[in-house]
Amino acid sequence: MLFGRSKKNPVKIADKSVVEWKYAACGYCSTGCSIEVGLNAEGRAVSSRGVAEADVNRGKLCLKGIFEHELFDSAGRGVVPKMREYWHEDWQETDWDTALDKVHDEIRRIQDQYGRDSFAIISTGQMLTEEFYTLGKLTRGLIGTNNYDGNTTLCMASAVSGYKRSFGSDGPPGCYEDFEHTDLLIAWGSNLPEQHPIIYWRMKEAQEKRGFPLIVVDPRVTMLAQNADIHLPITPGTDVVLQNAFMHVILKEGLQDQAYIDANTNGFEELKDEVEKYDPATAAKICGIDEDSIRHVARRFASAGAAMQIWTMGINQSTHGSDGVVGINNLALITGNIGKPGGTSLSITGQCNAMGTREWSSCSGLPNYRMLEVPEHRQEVAKFWNVDVEFFPGKRGMLQTDIYHAIESGQIKGLWLIATNPMSSLPNTARIRKAMEKLEFCVVQDCYVDTESAQYAHVYLPAGTWAEKEGVMTNTERRISVVKPIAAPPGQAKPDLWIFNRMAERFNKDGKVSFPERAPEIFLEMRELSAGRLADITGMDHELIENSRGIQWPYTKEQKDSGEPPPRGGKRLYTETAAFRYADGKAKLIPLPFIDNNEVPDGQYPVWLNTGRLIEHWHGRTKTGKIGNNNKYSPIPFIEINPDLCAELGIQRGEYVRLVSRRSDAIVMAQPTGRVPKNMVFLPFHFHDCANRLTLGLLDPHSRQPAYKQSAVRVEKITDQKEAACLSMEMRKF
Ligand code: SF4
Repeated sequence: MLFGRSKKNPVKIADKSVVEWKYAACGYCSTGCSIEVGLNAEGRAVSSRGVAEADVNRGKLCLKGIFEHELFDSAGRGVVPKMREYWHEDWQETDWDTALDKVHDEIRRIQDQYGRDSFAIISTGQMLTEEFYTLGKLTRGLIGTNNYDGNTTLCMASAVSGYKRSFGSDGPPGCYEDFEHTDLLIAWGSNLPEQHPIIYWRMKEAQEKRGFPLIVVDPRVTMLAQNADIHLPITPGTDVVLQNAFMHVILKEGLQDQAYIDANTNGFEELKDEVEKYDPATAAKICGIDEDSIRHVARRFASAGAAMQIWTMGINQSTHGSDGVVGINNLALITGNIGKPGGTSLSITGQCNAMGTREWSSCSGLPNYRMLEVPEHRQEVAKFWNVDVEFFPGKRGMLQTDIYHAIESGQIKGLWLIATNPMSSLPNTARIRKAMEKLEFCVVQDCYVDTESAQYAHVYLPAGTWAEKEGVMTNTERRISVVKPIAAPPGQAKPDLWIFNRMAERFNKDGKVSFPERAPEIFLEMRELSAGRLADITGMDHELIENSRGIQWPYTKEQKDSGEPPPRGGKRLYTETAAFRYADGKAKLIPLPFIDNNEVPDGQYPVWLNTGRLIEHWHGRTKTGKIGNNNKYSPIPFIEINPDLCAELGIQRGEYVRLVSRRSDAIVMAQPTGRVPKNMVFLPFHFHDCANRLTLGLLDPHSRQPAYKQSAVRVEKITDQKEAACLSMEMRKF
């Protein structure tokens, strides 16, 4: 007798007629999965698969990576340069020389008329590292504006700032392999299964083998929280209070690693004085976690042989984002959990190459974590690039979030946006719209011509995307991987590197500064500039990186010459005494007094608005909104809302409701769930003209990152559901 499947038709995997597989690293998140794209006999990309021998993903891909080959011929790609006199006029197609001349002339006109810094440049975490490096050289060495930043300010600025404050430099010290050694893991505001599915798989596999406890700090019952041994549903924006309370217990009970503290840190007495104020009873009233849980988790963390902390946007996107990172580092340092297998503080990065821009773009300073504020760093880079050292500013200019305020006030008149879409991604859309309308000149360089921000451009430059280009990317664990061209950019679109180099020719008429044409050559130039730096890559080249399926930095020439196997590179930072990047080699323990400066729920707006991402979508849906297999999972803007709040407001499952904040309103579908408490709704931020109509986005004072996750709203029932459905449909358009 036949049972089950044997009676049915066998599962068949559609034959895509792949004749060749081509290698790249995934272009969505910072996990850094190695991917192969299958081409059919016509050379068309028809399939994607994970690379089995790549250490990061070991053959797996998530829902986005599986369909990544569909990006190449997705709708809305820009295929020809365009220009217009005013942003609200129709586009006129043009040729590259005319478009690039216009951009050059407008940059110089604005700088001559209003000053060098009146033109701003904002890039992305989506380009390849050699492109970032070239843009940095062009901006810092030739154009000369100091108002130059990346959209990584919206996701990683607090991690960067916190690492710099604690350790003297940016650079995540841990790696994925730490999951295989840790005895306890705390995840702060990080929902790995949805945001970084393949890191989650690595973590889960390690946990199943060794059974370490997982503690999740998150106001929402996320997918990760559902899998936690202990879930701490913290009051939004109060992580610093919980961290101080953990340290209070650890120090009161003498559980700290005093030998490590004495040998490796400064500031212990000041930290001790501050955390003395955060006894569990007092802290519990602010952060919403009961005293016993605070004591229990603090004791378990301090007594674990090796304890690991990870975090993502739940920490970074807060008015206390940078402090939250420093708090995580403080906890790690007082328990000796840095630089040892399984003992680390690891920021899980956002975009695929957010790390590349942190390392090489010169946005926050100069290449390879050099600082404009350090005269020797300015001198070194000026000499290397053959530019006048006096041309470099003495300190960093505005960050992205401040640039828009400066446009609003008339201080900045022109803007070059590269692979970023602030009209979708910045908080308080109405305010950003007004700022964009004020620009005298805006150029948008993007692979898509139909982004919301391109509506305000005077010039549009069509760029290649992901594996239409060649270069490297760095992932969360400092692993550099190669991307090779799989397809050509469509029509007249060009790789970003080509665009920067043609622009450089216009600012570099005497040819004083060299701009190599090809990514492998640029990598060799970067390699020279990396010698002796934290991110030393002198042992690497494109070929070795590709053959190794990624190498973690640092990997030095000495390591390579000594025969140390390349696939490993530098697993961990700060493994030795006196290794931190402050002058005396010690890390700083920094006291963190808590001042509650968020917008909080009140009588008029009684509900927290928490925003975040879903597994099937990527950021503003510029890419995934056009890939049917991703978009169809959740095409409609919705909120998670507690069933008790629904009952109180008379709202049924699937009804449209109006969310109202002090900024504006949005129409979304209600999905009742116990994942959120009664005083909170969760709204995915992907949809155009939706979440960011509502967000306030107060800024962190250190990192200038917006607090996307702490706004106040009210929920209103809508009686005319037909009209609400039409309004919501508007938001589904890209
Ligand atoms: Fe790409 Fe990230 Fe998914 Fe890996 S986890 S396939 S890097 S989106």
